[in-house]
Amino acid sequence: MSKFKFYFLSFTWGLPVTLAGCLVAFFMRITGHKPKKWGYCYYFELGNGHSGADFGVFFVKGKPESLYLKNHELGHAVQNCYFGFLMPFIVNIPSTVRFWFRAFSKKINPQKKLKPYDSVWFEGQATRLGSKLIAHLESEKLKNNKAPLYKCENLKNKGL
Ligand SMILES: [Zn+2]
Repeated sequence: MSKFKFYFLSFTWGLPVTLAGCLVAFFMRITGHKPKKWGYCYYFELGNGHSGADFGVFFVKGKPESLYLKNHELGHAVQNCYFGFLMPFIVNIPSTVRFWFRAFSKKINPQKKLKPYDSVWFEGQATRLGSKLIAHLESEKLKNNKAPLYKCENLKNKGL
């Protein structure tokens, strides 16, 4: 998905979730949290948990570094472009309910074996979409690296 398509869809069809994200981002900023960038998303780090929550263009995650989690939350942002107004009903709410239900089941019975997190379609799809977008952006970066090499040559020729 191109950058233009991502932001265009996030602020039109996907506006409900993006607006919630703007509020979250506003509160994170006024409480002194600095945004970082992942793919097309801006994210804030909060707490030491290994979980996150996506709100369109913005997401919040725990401080421990996790490539999986960043890609996963970015994937939910891409889903928001696809599902738009339906996103809260088919992804956000089911995902939140499932998250707390799993945490609750583990608390009651720590021995309980839970199915993999991504076994449900909306979580697996988020991981796949986010990883795919990052792989695409990385390959674009690699392609563009040809230009900086050329520039370095120029600088050397100028004796810099
Ligand atoms: Zn998720």
